[in-house]
Order: sequence, then structure tokens, then C-alpha cells
Amino acid sequence: MKKLFKIFIGLLLVAAVLTAVVWQSGQDQYLKVYFFDVGQGDAILIRTPLHQNIVIDGGPDNGFIAKLGSALPFYDRTVDLMVLTHPHEDHLVGLIEVLKRYRIKEVLATGALAKNSSYEEWLKIIKEKNIPFKTAVSGQRFLFSGDIQLIVVSPFADLAGHSYEEASEKKSAGQEGNLNNTSVVLFLTYGQTSFLFTGDLEEAGEKAILKNWLASLKADVLKIGHHGSNGSSSEDFLRAVSPQDAVISVGQDNNFGHPSPLVLKRLERLKIQIWRTDLSGDVAFWANGIILRKLNKNRLDFFESFCYNKNNHLIDLIVRYLCQQNNPTSF
Ligand SMILES: [Zn+2]
Repeated sequence: MKKLFKIFIGLLLVAAVLTAVVWQSGQDQYLKVYFFDVGQGDAILIRTPLHQNIVIDGGPDNGFIAKLGSALPFYDRTVDLMVLTHPHEDHLVGLIEVLKRYRIKEVLATGALAKNSSYEEWLKIIKEKNIPFKTAVSGQRFLFSGDIQLIVVSPFADLAGHSYEEASEKKSAGQEGNLNNTSVVLFLTYGQTSFLFTGDLEEAGEKAILKNWLASLKADVLKIGHHGSNGSSSEDFLRAVSPQDAVISVGQDNNFGHPSPLVLKRLERLKIQIWRTDLSGDVAFWANGIILRKLNKNRLDFFESFCYNKNNHLIDLIVRYLCQQNNPTSF
């Protein structure tokens, strides 16, 4: 009897291991792009099918670290590439804690000068930890395993050490450009799926991109520039990118009136589906190279807790397996 019991337990263990292997390979096919609800700011995580992590901006406070922790397995503390689009605090502050708590393999930013203490701290930690710092210039390509490419679209010049006036000061100073237009703009491709991330780029920056990249701007998902401000997302730019989906990363009842009703109307007129972090919470896109699944916070919570629960009891493994097998295209 004891022997039979042992065989039974042994079989259960084998089944559990097999299920875990199948689950793991099933999960591997997805490139996951998360636009986290961090209030007024941007914070994006890209997790590749082979589990490399790219972070683009970190939001205005330490809220990002918890979001990152919940999207990544507890044992994964590596960020392969950290991108700061531009040194404004609503994109920057949350990255400081990530620098402290995760192993960062490389940083990509413009190196433009800006006067704020968060930026100074961010740069100081990078230096102290000896993290390789790459200055973003249009045309650079980052390759990730699984045939994933991240291409720098903008800026068009090396901006390291250059100083930029704020938008409000620029008029009086008669200066051209502002920090928003220095934003690192990135194009991500995986199979037939593509994403365009624009930071806080405004119309002047969009025009420069249109001039240089017009033929290859089309993307499935567009991260709308500057939280849906009317100074961004010009009609020409939207038409050139021609996305199915647009994500607006924006805080509830923010002081800036973002997103602008004019931008929302423009998107509706062009039949682009709008995803707003102030209304939907975290927004995620999972792509297997062909199909793009779209998840708002409720769906994401459900799917992650049910189909991607992190428990390793046999029953959880089986639920995960069955759930994923039966949900290939339902989103
Ligand atoms: Zn911003």
C-alpha cells in the first residue's frame, strides 16, 4: 500500500513538472508591454518572450517599483535596458528606486542637461554603480533574443551636455525647442507587431520624425505623446503611424487638463481605440508576433491571477495550463 502511495506521489510530481514545462513554454511566446497607471506620468515595462526586461520611464513617484514587482516574477531582478525619455520628474522619479533595487545592464537616455535634483540623483547612482550609459541617437538598434528589435527614432542629434529651456520659458527666451521635444522615441517590433513610444514629444518633434521616418512609422500601438496634450498627436503624425490602439498615460483629475478633448476627438475620428490609464488602470498588450491581446486592469488582474497564478500547487499548474490553452485569441 505504502509503495502504491509512493508511486502515486511520484506520478503526481512528474505530471506537475510536465505541466510546469508546458506552461513555461506557453507563456514564453508572448511579448508583454505594460503601461502602468502611475498617475500623471509615464511608466512602461516591456518583457520579452525570453524574459528580458526593458523599462521606459518610471512615473512621478515610488509607485512604479510595486507595479514592476507585481508584473515580474519575484526572482527576476534584472532590467536589461532602462530608458529615460527625458529628464522631467513625471518620467524620472520612479526610476531612481529601480536603479537602487534592480541590476541594470544598460541605460539609454539623451544626456541633455536639466536642473532638477531627481535627475542629478539618477545620474549619480548610474555613475556609482558603473552602469553603461548610452546616448540615444536616431538609427540605433537594440536587439533582444526572440527576434525583438528596439529602434531609436528620435532625437536626431547627440544631445548630451546640451541645455534646454522649459516650454514656458522658451517663448520669452526666444529659444527653439524644449525638453519635451528631446524625448527618446522608440519603435519596437516583434514579428508582425509593432509599438511606437513617444515620451512627451510635441508637434515640432513629430514633424522632424515625419520628415525622416515617414515610410516606416506604421505601428499597431502608439503611446500618445505628452499625456494627450493638444500640443502633440498632430493629425499628420497619427495618420502616418496609423495605429489600431493608442495609450494615453495620464493621471485622474490632473492639473493640466490632459488628455485634451481635441486629441480624443482626433483619435475617434481616425477610428483609433483609446486606452487611458486614468480610466482603465494598468493597460497591457501581449503579442505573440501575430495576434495582439489587449488587457485593461480588470482583465489583466483576472488573467494574471487565474491563468498566470504564481502558485506551484498541482491544481494551480493544471488551471494555468488549461486556461492558457483555451484562451488563445479571446482577448
Ligand atoms: Zn510627461
